[in-house]
Amino acid sequence: MATTPFDLTGRTALVTGANTGIGQGIAIALAQAGADIAAVGRSPADGTAEQVRALGRRCELVSADLSSIEPVTEVVDTVVGKLGRLDILVNNAGIIRREDALDFSEEDWDAVMDTNLKTLFFLCQAAARHMTGWASQGGERGKIVNIASMLTFQGGIRVPSYTASKSGVGGLTKLMANEWAPRGINVNAIAPGYIATNNTAALQADETRNRQILERIPEQRWGDPADIGGASVFLASRAADYVQGHILAVDGGWLAR
Ligand code: NAP
Repeated sequence: MATTPFDLTGRTALVTGANTGIGQGIAIALAQAGADIAAVGRSPADGTAEQVRALGRRCELVSADLSSIEPVTEVVDTVVGKLGRLDILVNNAGIIRREDALDFSEEDWDAVMDTNLKTLFFLCQAAARHMTGWASQGGERGKIVNIASMLTFQGGIRVPSYTASKSGVGGLTKLMANEWAPRGINVNAIAPGYIATNNTAALQADETRNRQILERIPEQRWGDPADIGGASVFLASRAADYVQGHILAVDGGWLAR
């Protein structure tokens, strides 16, 4: 039985892209708060599973390529089958492609939009269909947390499909909150700032860009996946029952500048 509003004991969470980076940080944080985890992705998440199980929580691994919506229904059914229920969905898996807008290809447009936006929406839909049934039977509220970006608020440069996809994540998060709040589901997003992961390895390695980035961050450091983990525990918990359609920037103050 949950003891504090942040306690996730007895809850189950599906986290996409949990083998590394932010997704791994989120899976571990949710497990620390008491949740059992289903790690869904295309690369083996054994390292994450080991850390989650060391916390005494279950971790089920579900293999799926989320570049199309083809596996979506089966993924949610599999997770519900393995863990018995689905309370929390974290849509974290995402990709980025960089090229001048003048030269940007249709392939780079479609790849990013499909993974970051289309699959995210249909995973939300499949999870919500399950969660609304659960809530109507007197279960706890379902929680959906989408991973957005600074480019949900800003334009960026040389990343047109990424900006479009993450701006879309912000809009869809609000739409789904509007439709599903009355049906017992909270839909919110986290907009990470600059977090040290594979995704940003090139930026960290570029001395000039690294310095420019750090100069603008009031916290004067790159974010850690655990920083996003803390925010995800909040949004996945009863403490956030009255938070809807919000995009929570976890950026060391980047947007405040
Ligand atoms: P990352 O280390 O590159 O991790 C991305 C995750 O998404 C990996 O687990 C990756 O799996 C998974 N993924 C990508 N395409 C997939 C597919 N087709 N099917 C299944 N899984 C797929 O990057 P990250 O920084 O942790 O990014 C996680 C999320 O945070 C993304 O949505 C990203 O846009 C967002 N974000 C990151 C930052 C940052 O500063 N790092 C800032 C803002 C937003 P593989 O390991 O198999 O590739």
